[in-house]
Amino acid sequence: MKKIRQPIIAVLGHVDHGKTTLLDRIRNTNVASKEAGGITQHIGATEVPIDTIKQLAGPLIQLWKGEIRLPGLLFIDTPGHEAFTSLRARGGSLADLAVLIVDINEGFQPQTIESIEILRRNRTPFIVAANKIDRIKGWKVEEDEPFLVNIKKQDQRAQQELETKLWELIGKFYEMGFQANRFDRVQDFTRELAIVPISAKYGIGVPELLVLIAGLSQKYLEEKLKIEVEGPARGTILEVREELGLGTTIDVIIYDGTLHKDDTIVVGGKDKAIVTKIRALLKPKPLDEIRDPRFRFDQVDEVAAAAGIKIAAPGLEEALAGSPVIAARSEEEVEKARQEILSQIQSVVISTGKVGVIVKADTLGSLEALSKELNEKGIPIRKADVGNISKTDVMEALSVREEEEKYGVVLGFNVRVNEDAEEVAKARSIPIFTGNIIYKLIEDYEEWIRAEEEKKKRELLSKVTFPGVIRLYPDERYVFRRSHPAIVGVEVVEGRIRPGVALIKQNGQKVGVIKSIKNKNDFVQEAKKGDAVAIAIEGAIVGRHIHPGETLYVDLSKNDVIILAKQLKNELDETDIRALKMTAKVKAQQDPFWKAV
Ligand code: GDP
Repeated sequence: MKKIRQPIIAVLGHVDHGKTTLLDRIRNTNVASKEAGGITQHIGATEVPIDTIKQLAGPLIQLWKGEIRLPGLLFIDTPGHEAFTSLRARGGSLADLAVLIVDINEGFQPQTIESIEILRRNRTPFIVAANKIDRIKGWKVEEDEPFLVNIKKQDQRAQQELETKLWELIGKFYEMGFQANRFDRVQDFTRELAIVPISAKYGIGVPELLVLIAGLSQKYLEEKLKIEVEGPARGTILEVREELGLGTTIDVIIYDGTLHKDDTIVVGGKDKAIVTKIRALLKPKPLDEIRDPRFRFDQVDEVAAAAGIKIAAPGLEEALAGSPVIAARSEEEVEKARQEILSQIQSVVISTGKVGVIVKADTLGSLEALSKELNEKGIPIRKADVGNISKTDVMEALSVREEEEKYGVVLGFNVRVNEDAEEVAKARSIPIFTGNIIYKLIEDYEEWIRAEEEKKKRELLSKVTFPGVIRLYPDERYVFRRSHPAIVGVEVVEGRIRPGVALIKQNGQKVGVIKSIKNKNDFVQEAKKGDAVAIAIEGAIVGRHIHPGETLYVDLSKNDVIILAKQLKNELDETDIRALKMTAKVKAQQDPFWKAV
């Protein structure tokens, strides 16, 4: 038999925009009527029954024409876009629908943008809560009031300011390719993003938010929400946790089927699928019944989707957050689940031995998201794994650095750096990049690569000699001094010259080193093709080693040529290349290496 389950809702958005406050407000919603039934606390989630929503909404339920058949809404308690990144099921997102919260006074922030990108990529439908409207100047607060009632009490100025801020938001969404509008002005919810102005702190607009979530879920997700009640359960691990007296447990959101207390479950572990028998299914005790912290949970016999539940079972120490959980009732089902989970882990947790970066993340889901992003950028990955950054990770990055400096780094999403790892990284100068915004993390890393390359280039530039060809003016008048040092007027024929470079003659013979270059009245650090300058040459005597009208070449080493050709190619212009060719011809008389240049 099929039934419609509660949609799973995640709240995400930029830090401090009010995710926790909104969830707290929903959790603490008090409904006067007893029949309405209360809010139920799950493990890692909060359930709002549909009657509560109807009660809260009152006549607003008309916002949604037609009957609402959903049993309620299941809100994931861990807010934040990092958490959302981690929530995955069946390759997509665990959440059926999301609430993107934006502080209306601050507008879009980095995590707002990244949240939208992730929602878009996962094709998760969402609605927008424009929060903190109570901060608008002169706003009159009435706790828990529907927005459409509350707005009527505001004076002209406050209403106008809200409109202006809403338009700014709508404009930002438009830039990201979304048509958005205030929820009561939306014509077609499939095309337009609904924005509900709220105050999470005072509960204003929360009734409409709940009604819209319920209505939208039912209208657009009804098919997806139908579950085979008796089918084997499927879920996603939110967290792996040590519990007093219970050992290692997993907190799981069940999104399909029914889990029984004597089921066998298969979950993803470090590099294997873990098959284990459930010891207990646990749900939180109501707060007022907890007398001893060791008995914070009640045991249940079974639980149907959608629900958050704690599972105690042997062998969960290695379980991975973000991994699927599949219940199995026969050998065959166990094997099938094992294969499915293994292939999911193996597609994300990898160890290749390739030259590439080391990637760590808090869950399988976030690891997958980060790896995907790196792949798209063409950044190779040596190892991708779930967990904090360890000393082994740093050592591995160290060995990568031997082969390719820019990949000798560790990237961590939403993870900590172990102390010993930090020490080694510092001592061996292995960069560790951590953060909780994927694109920012990758951007930081790319920025570092650019800075390193720039630094390396500058180092090379200061060391390498550029090619140059000069000609002494034929007229004796341009011999300003014959020796110690010789000072002569020259024209740069091709390439460039700098103080410090050695000069050779047409036959390859060395003549001395340029000590200084004077252009008109100024000493300069470089003269380029077409410049007429006076140069001082240490070691040469005019009339004996060099003569007016003679062509001289900057002496280059093989190393110079290799660096110029390989690493500084982009720094050479056409005249440099001609100078290089001319110099190579001169040098080739003595060394066949130069024939190939
Ligand atoms: P999170 O980081 O997104 O979970 O943000 P929080 O829920 O922790 O909120 C950050 C701060 O904003 C806290 O000080 C809240 O009290 C405050 N805040 C959240 N919602 C509202 C609101 O609707 N109005 C006002 N005035 N403050 C709010």
